[in-house]
Amino acid sequence: MIFAANLKCNHTRASFALYAKALNEALKYTKNEDEIIVFPPSIAFLGEKLDFIQGTQNFYPCVNGAFTGELGKMHLDEFGINCVLIGHSERRALGEDHELLKAKFEFAKEHDFKIIFCVGEELECKKQGKTKEFLNKQLENLDLNYQNLIIAYEPIYSIGTGLSAEIKDIESVLTFLSSKTKAKLLYGGSVNEDNIKAILDIEHCGGVLVGSAALDVRKFINLIKG
Ligand code: PEP
Repeated sequence: MIFAANLKCNHTRASFALYAKALNEALKYTKNEDEIIVFPPSIAFLGEKLDFIQGTQNFYPCVNGAFTGELGKMHLDEFGINCVLIGHSERRALGEDHELLKAKFEFAKEHDFKIIFCVGEELECKKQGKTKEFLNKQLENLDLNYQNLIIAYEPIYSIGTGLSAEIKDIESVLTFLSSKTKAKLLYGGSVNEDNIKAILDIEHCGGVLVGSAALDVRKFINLIKG
């Protein structure tokens, strides 16, 4: 299973160093087949060898250049980072449109990065029965056969709300996505220690992307240990 933690705009360099130390220690005793990925804020990237994959929450599709405030491949390389989050609803809400997400996807693919591509609909869209149509649009013109692709289904109404989507709805979307791609599929949206088991048991679910419940490293470790 894949256990991915999105730390968002939380943790400092100092606190993430402690987080990584505790996680490294705990991972010595977990199943080898699990894949653990953490997306810290970029200011906290660590340069040392880690027992988990360190990913970036954001990057600009360039190696370097005149892109004020952005993060290029050159900066990721310095920390050995080759795992990227693309399409998170919080970045879409800040204005990342399909054109930019596609450019990020293609750049990441060109450089063989592991991509976690997030998709997910608003509650209104779900109520109107338009989820699949909407997800199809979010995945339009992306190479769903890319071998280093993971897709995370993160319904917007469940992100950071404490209310995860219903199992039957997650199951229906993951089944739909599995008909379009062989990529591993994750669920994200208010995953916590009470609901994780039922979520991981869903057919086609290859793991979870966790925000709030992963901010405290002890809680994240408990989710991984099950
Ligand atoms: C996320 O932001 O990717 C996320 C899943 O957040 P939370 O677990 O807090 O809903």
